[in-house]
Amino acid sequence: MTVKQLQEEILTLKKQKNVIILAHYYQPIEIQEIADYLGDSLGLSRTTKEKANTDYIIFAGVDFMCETASILNQDKHIMIPNYESCCPMAAFLTPEMVREYKEKHPGLPVIVYVNSTAAVKAESDICCTSSNAVEIVKRISKEFSTKEVLFGPDANLADYAEQESGIKCWQMPSHGHCYVHSQITVDDIVEIKKKYPNAKLLVHPECIRGVRELADIVGSTARMYNYVKENSSKVIEFIIGTEVGLLERMAQDFPTNKFYLAKEKLVCHNMKKHNLELIKYILENLDDEAFEVKVPPNVAKRAKKPIEKMLEYS
Ligand code: SF4
Repeated sequence: MTVKQLQEEILTLKKQKNVIILAHYYQPIEIQEIADYLGDSLGLSRTTKEKANTDYIIFAGVDFMCETASILNQDKHIMIPNYESCCPMAAFLTPEMVREYKEKHPGLPVIVYVNSTAAVKAESDICCTSSNAVEIVKRISKEFSTKEVLFGPDANLADYAEQESGIKCWQMPSHGHCYVHSQITVDDIVEIKKKYPNAKLLVHPECIRGVRELADIVGSTARMYNYVKENSSKVIEFIIGTEVGLLERMAQDFPTNKFYLAKEKLVCHNMKKHNLELIKYILENLDDEAFEVKVPPNVAKRAKKPIEKMLEYS
């Protein structure tokens, strides 16, 4: 069966069974093409809260995204095409660690990046995404009347939020990182800029500080996409410092522009564990609980507050 045929079967099944499919920008392009909603973590969190008028949501993203959808939609079935699709960054921070940091820094607000487990979110005051981290740090520090916050698990995003907000962001922990973004080095950027001197450089805030400082734009996947959309008639070339899936999306949507990856092999293997066959299987077997992500109600109740607070603040 060709990719096209498989996509058509999925589109028919999903309509018949009233299922919606959400996909992150880092998904393989053939999955992005059949998604009802495509976006970054913030956009997808909003979608699951506001637009999901169905009992079943297939979420082509990593585990924490499905957990967030489950927290916000306890009455729905959140299905993950491959339950081995996990974000290693989330594993850097446990609820026990958050409690220890809180004891060490009493009274400071706890900001947790959405790339974290539901149990960690349950320990926090507010969540953030790479789109709104700076704004959330500013708002919560004002609310708590403090110039310091606790921030985890991504140390690079904490560093970026601290630089941009002027508020001290204590990293929980100092080595939390994304293996995809943190592999981009300053040398890689110097090299690729030499090769494409007219290209604008767009990087994700999960990149290290030296890389961010060389960029024209530092932003989430949605911010990068929108920047390209707004500037595609004025700027021809773009260097993309994030996972290859976003570059593939841009190349398809802006065919007259040129896109270069900041470094070869910027692939999140965890995101790429889903495929069309698995999505079709779920559509045919919606009662297969092995593929359902369900956050226990007691954890969901506590984790919902920081997520909703983030949505209210952004
Ligand atoms: S790109 Fe990085 S942060 Fe995003 S899911 Fe993959 S490992 Fe996690």
